[in-house]
Amino acid sequence: MTSIQQFASNLYLTELHLDEFDVRGAVIIGGKRAVVWDTLSHPRDMQPVLPLLDDKYTMVVYSHADWDHVWGTSALRHHEVIGHNICYERFLNDVPLGLQEKKLAQPGKWDEVILVPPMMTFGGQMQFDLGDVTLELHHLPGHTLDCIVGFIPEWGVLLAGDTVETPLPVVNEDSPVEQWISLLEHWEKDERIKTVIPAHGEIGDRTLFTRNIAYLKTLLNGGDFDLPVIMQPFYHETHATNVEYTRKS
Ligand SMILES: [Zn+2]
Repeated sequence: MTSIQQFASNLYLTELHLDEFDVRGAVIIGGKRAVVWDTLSHPRDMQPVLPLLDDKYTMVVYSHADWDHVWGTSALRHHEVIGHNICYERFLNDVPLGLQEKKLAQPGKWDEVILVPPMMTFGGQMQFDLGDVTLELHHLPGHTLDCIVGFIPEWGVLLAGDTVETPLPVVNEDSPVEQWISLLEHWEKDERIKTVIPAHGEIGDRTLFTRNIAYLKTLLNGGDFDLPVIMQPFYHETHATNVEYTRKS
C-alpha cells in the first residue's frame, strides 16, 4: 500500500515497499494543474493519490519507463501523460515484454495493469506552468537512456527519478556512464537546488550527486568503492552487475 507523505504545502511523496526495494513518486499540486510524478507499480498504488487530485487537471510525468515507475497510470483520471521520446519508444518494446514476463512469473498478480504510453514527448527539455509553480523537465540519460529529472525552481526541489540513488545507483548494460557523470556534475553545481528527491533511497541535498558521481567514477576507473557495511541484498547484486557493465564499456 502506498503511503502519502506531505513534504511541503503543495508537494506530496508517494512511497511504496516492493519485494526487493522501495520506490517513491511525487504529487505536485499547482494552482491550475496537478502533476503525478511516476505512477509506481500497479493501479492500486495510485488509489491513495486520488483524493489529492480531486477534479484538478492532472498531468502524469514518467521519470523513465521502468516498471516500478509507470504501471499504475490507468487508476488516474489523467489529462496528459508526458515522457521522454525514448520513454515512448520503450512502451513499444521492453515495457510490454516486462509486463508479460511478470505475468508469467506471478500469475494473477499483474492482470489489472494497463500500459499507458506517454502522449506528449520531448527530447532535451520542456516546462509547464502549473499555476504559481513551474515544473521543468530535463533529459538526464544514465541509469536508462530515457531518464529525466523534474526541477521546481520556486521550491528548489529536484525530482531525480533513478538518476541518483542511495546506497548506489543502478547501471544498465547500455548506460552511458561518462555522459551520466557529466550531467550529474552539471546539476551538482546548480545552487538553486536545495532538495534532491530520488525514487529510491535517501532524500538529501546536492551531496547526493557528489556521492553518486564518486561511485560512478570509481566504477569507471576500476577502483574499489567503500560500500556501506549493512546493505540490502538487492544492492549487493546491483553493485556486482554495475562493476561488470562498466568494465565492458
Ligand atoms: Zn526505479
